[in-house]
Amino acid sequence: MRRVTGEQQATVVTDAWDFAVELRSDPASAEARAAVLADPAFGQSFTDHMVVANWTVDGGWQGSKVTAYAPLSLSPAAAVFHYSQEIFEGLKAYRHADGSVWAFRPDRNAARFSASAARLALPQVPEDEFVAALRALVTVDEAWVPSAEDGETSLYLRPYMIATEAALSVRPAHEVLFGVIASPAGPYFNTGPKPVSIWLTTSTIRATPGGTGAAKCGGNYASSLAGLAEAVANGCEQVAFVDAVEHKWLEEIGSMNMFFVYADGRIATPELNGSILEGVTRASVLELAADLGHPVEERRISADEWKDGVRSGDIAEVFASGTAAVITPIGRVAWPDGDLTIGDHSVDHGVGPVTTKIRTTLLDLQYGRTPDTRNWLTRLA
Ligand SMILES: *Cc1c(COP(=O)(O)O)cnc(C)c1O
Repeated sequence: MRRVTGEQQATVVTDAWDFAVELRSDPASAEARAAVLADPAFGQSFTDHMVVANWTVDGGWQGSKVTAYAPLSLSPAAAVFHYSQEIFEGLKAYRHADGSVWAFRPDRNAARFSASAARLALPQVPEDEFVAALRALVTVDEAWVPSAEDGETSLYLRPYMIATEAALSVRPAHEVLFGVIASPAGPYFNTGPKPVSIWLTTSTIRATPGGTGAAKCGGNYASSLAGLAEAVANGCEQVAFVDAVEHKWLEEIGSMNMFFVYADGRIATPELNGSILEGVTRASVLELAADLGHPVEERRISADEWKDGVRSGDIAEVFASGTAAVITPIGRVAWPDGDLTIGDHSVDHGVGPVTTKIRTTLLDLQYGRTPDTRNWLTRLA
């Protein structure tokens, strides 16, 4: 490995994030791109380019660029394959009616990426460079951002960081890659939101106190998949996890945060406890719901409160929140010896009025259909 002197290092750091653009010689044809944009499945197709930057313990960040989307070449000994030193983010670029392209609260994703990096002993990406990386990629691949007329379509952006050093020693890696890829995304629910069914598991735990639950890292997802498989085996679409200590307090639904709408108008979500991931959508729903006149509560909510509230009618609606699906209505909860239907399924496919209102309010903001009074939008292109 090349060691750089102090002086060279200063130069490297200054030049670190210039996002040199290497346009690919064989971009997708306009027809091929149009075919993808006509019906984008989530996370299946990727744009022509990607961002990469490399970090070494001696040289810091260098070589940031926008380059052709292509496979990476890594040693089989790269630390990420063995010890899961990896983090990621997920956010969307939205095309507005005037053709401009915007991100929703990307500063929050940047800050969360920093926090996740700290927890996984990965280097920091300066938060303004994180946003600059998104802008660099979206500027080059702007034609891949679906048009405003296509409803809830967007360009999903996936920043990530992996330990690339070829070394099996157990310590924070000395070589790391930061990247951003982008994937056109259609509406999560093709025919409008439909309530999903949830399996309430107590046999699989997603995250533990002091663990990595509050960081956005691949390891959390790997450890949640057995719970998801259990849900599917029991005829449900998604899984709800409880806390690791008492197996009693609700934490998350799959990779989404969860909300309860009470018949009296209150809205509650599990309080952040160190093992729940703090969603940008979650934070935004809390503010928007309060604006809409709902008392909002962040507190511990037990699985029994959920069941009892649905039985008694105190809980009128349940939904989950996350960037990919925005707001997912929950229509049913099942567990090893029980099964409950939530809300009135004769009305509007079972999507409750409060869930619908919050979902519409959020989407209208993201797509620029209502004024951005909180400065939540950042222009990318
Ligand atoms: C990403 C994520 C969420 C949702 O976060 P958003 O910022 O709203 O997309 C919720 N839970 C987990 C575990 C996540 O990884």
